[in-house]
Amino acid sequence: MRRPLVAGNWKMHGSQASASQLVTDLVSQPIAGIVDVAVCPAYVHLAQAVDLTRSTAIAVGAQDCSHMDSGAFTGEISAPMLKDLGCEWVIIGHSERRQYHEESDELIAAKIKAAVTASLKPIVCVGETQQQREDGDAQFVVASQLTGALSAQPDLAGLVIAYEPVWAIGTGLTATPAEAQEMHAFIRAQLEGIAGVEPADTRLLYGGSVKSGNAAQLFAQDDIDGALVGGAALDAGEFACIIAAAA
Ligand code: PEP
Repeated sequence: MRRPLVAGNWKMHGSQASASQLVTDLVSQPIAGIVDVAVCPAYVHLAQAVDLTRSTAIAVGAQDCSHMDSGAFTGEISAPMLKDLGCEWVIIGHSERRQYHEESDELIAAKIKAAVTASLKPIVCVGETQQQREDGDAQFVVASQLTGALSAQPDLAGLVIAYEPVWAIGTGLTATPAEAQEMHAFIRAQLEGIAGVEPADTRLLYGGSVKSGNAAQLFAQDDIDGALVGGAALDAGEFACIIAAAA
């Protein structure tokens, strides 16, 4: 039995005041104990999120990490630094990082290795663009992202994969529950071929315009174990409804 996970990706939003308010509002929501919950604010708001969620059921994650542990890498934040701060999770390979920072599968693989070595749990994002889907290449793209990121990793225990079709992120478009389930089942089958992964135990999240109105139908699918939520995670009540749908 896989425990649901709902993680909020706050992206580059908020101020110290609004981030604190959002965490405080979320902490005051009733959260069922059978769902793992994480919030992933911007780096500069991580410390206050860690402080405000101490002794609560909410964990904190970062939206990215460096592939290096330390050294002359101006502007970078390492996985050991995030662990030291109190983070439990880290999102790796988000499509916005692939698109705007040209992150390759090779770099994403190195980041996963750095995260796991630092005892952070990676949420690894994969997903195809609209064009790739229209060209009939969605499964090919996702399979190669999985192989590129996960092959030859020393340890993948606790790995989480987020399937986020790029065309559904921040657009209001969502994969239908059947489309999402089809890709999740495909991903689970692909994991069979990757050393160190236990496919039946690996949590697969759906991401892409998830909100309270569509969450329950998505979570009802056999291979959807929760969600990576962007825009709707910026509203504590809405995010709490999505968590309740996963419970
Ligand atoms: C995301 O950025 O990971 C995401 C799923 O965004 P949204 O929910 O806003 O589509």
